[in-house]
Amino acid sequence: MVLRLAVLLLAVLLWPRPALANDSNVLVLFSNGRLLPANVEVERGLRQSLPPGHRGSLFEEFLDAPRFRGTDFEHATVDYLRVKYRSRRPAIIVAAGPESLAFILAHRSVLFPGVPVVHLGVSSAQLGPLPADVIGVPIEYDLAGTIDQALRWHPTVRQVVIVTGASPIDRMLEARLRAEMVRFQPRATFEFLAGVPDAELVRRLGALKGDSIVFSPGYFMNGDGVEMSPRESAVHLATLSAVPVYAPYDTFIGTGVVGGRMPAFFDAGLIAGRIIERLMAGEDPGSIRLPAAQPTALHVDWRQIERWGIQTDGAGPDLIAHYKAPGFLDQYAREAAVALVLFLLQTALTAGLVIERRRRRRAESSILRQRAELAHATRLQIGAQLAASIAHEINQPLGAILNNADAGIMILDAGGSVPSAALRDIISDIRRADLRASEVIRRLRALLAQREVEQRPFGVEDMLHDVEAIMRSEAQLRKVALEFLVPEGRTIVTGDRIQMQQVVINLLLNALDACADVPAGRQRVSVSLKADADSATICVRDRGQGIPLEYRARLFESFFTTRPDGMGMGLSISRTLVDAHGGRIWAEHAEEGTLVSVRLPISPPECIAEACDAPDPRMPHA
Ligand code: ADP
Repeated sequence: MVLRLAVLLLAVLLWPRPALANDSNVLVLFSNGRLLPANVEVERGLRQSLPPGHRGSLFEEFLDAPRFRGTDFEHATVDYLRVKYRSRRPAIIVAAGPESLAFILAHRSVLFPGVPVVHLGVSSAQLGPLPADVIGVPIEYDLAGTIDQALRWHPTVRQVVIVTGASPIDRMLEARLRAEMVRFQPRATFEFLAGVPDAELVRRLGALKGDSIVFSPGYFMNGDGVEMSPRESAVHLATLSAVPVYAPYDTFIGTGVVGGRMPAFFDAGLIAGRIIERLMAGEDPGSIRLPAAQPTALHVDWRQIERWGIQTDGAGPDLIAHYKAPGFLDQYAREAAVALVLFLLQTALTAGLVIERRRRRRAESSILRQRAELAHATRLQIGAQLAASIAHEINQPLGAILNNADAGIMILDAGGSVPSAALRDIISDIRRADLRASEVIRRLRALLAQREVEQRPFGVEDMLHDVEAIMRSEAQLRKVALEFLVPEGRTIVTGDRIQMQQVVINLLLNALDACADVPAGRQRVSVSLKADADSATICVRDRGQGIPLEYRARLFESFFTTRPDGMGMGLSISRTLVDAHGGRIWAEHAEEGTLVSVRLPISPPECIAEACDAPDPRMPHA
């Protein structure tokens, strides 16, 4: 029998507690009146944290303890609550405040037997031993922490004036404060204005000097017996005081007080709501582990911080600044982030473009250098091709010099009087021949020297005259009639004169080659120049073998050649050079032979003026 009973008891104890219904009612019994700001905040927190989907009712009752007390009132309240909630029994009771908790503990067995209780707004000092199903997180008003912070922010302050009220609750707080303030002596002295008549309060607070601050938990009744909420009293005190006022409740923030180290009443409601949620989920009240106290933070009214010039540096990370105008970044954080991202993207893009541009420039200058080197190499090849005619060109004046020198010696050897006119003619001939030889060498050096590529205006006619002088002997040696149809005038293009010279010489060498195997009557090559407003066109025409149809598309390709000793670079490099001058080169099959044309853009007038000022490059250098 005993064993059966023991098993039954164990089963009852271990049986999982049924979860409370989703429509369970919750009754909140507040110690104070309905409009006490702390109650409003607690209710806000509670409602916000009720379990999602909770369909039960939240009932609220107010003991209005500071104003109504006594056994009769208490009994009447018990009767009232019993009758009122007979048909709508709450599943959970919330005791909001110490008076409420005391009332519930005293009358729960009659009113709501077995209903779990969640307490809030009760400090641990006010909590006696509690039944296992009465749980909650104690609230601690950090009076000492607030005073300590205030004294640190006002290091010159020597006196703290503490204002309390005249109701029994006010007196209880006064007693607690008197006990707690002892620890701050001798750092500061404490003067209590406890329940003093309002006129005196007005006078005393208004006369305070910079070595004082005020601390007040507010009061429910002033020294004249007028009842009010502590928040209303805080508004009054902050208006009167000539020095900063500190307080222990967050509901005072906004009344004109600076602030203090305090718990938030809203959070007290939230915490209680979360405990309710766990109870409704079926957790056993005795097994719910809760923190020893609700956390506090340093709440301040930023307008008061600025008003009193308080330096909050080093206040710690838990400073909560109310009424602080949001900074630009707080206000436009998203826009600022977007702008920052765009800025970074733009910077990255710009950097990328700059790097790319540099790389391109480097590549371009490397291409230019290679092109110049290639052009020079092919000019050397031209030099080699022209070797015979160059030798001929130089030999002629050298021969003339020799002949004239021999003639002079003969005259001198003949003895007698030497006719000075004859000698003068001989010496003049020698001088002319010498100039002619040095002119050949000058042109050759200009053609073959390795030099920087130039970008300057030059006359096309001058350039063609130089080509004529260089190629005349070559054509003669090959027995080809070379004709230059260059009209008078100065057609200016901008670029590298030597490179353009090289192009025309290339075309002429090809034309001379093409005439090699044709009858003597067709061995004719002509170079002509036509200019209009925009361009100058140089045409090199021969009556040679012409270009077979199958080769026409490949003429300008590198290494394309039909000659056994050809390199196939002449036309290819010519096109590269003409392109670099913004011009165009093309070949046509003419009626008899080939016509190759080079069109170059004419320079704007300012370049023409510059070219006209420049010395004629055909004149020997000084
Ligand atoms: P290469 O003279 O070394 O062969 P080019 O690039 O100057 O190289 O010429 C390529 C080819 O184009 C020549 O081998 C020749 O077949 C053809 N060609 C060029 N000019 C003429 C021309 N005036 N008449 C006929 N064929 C030509």
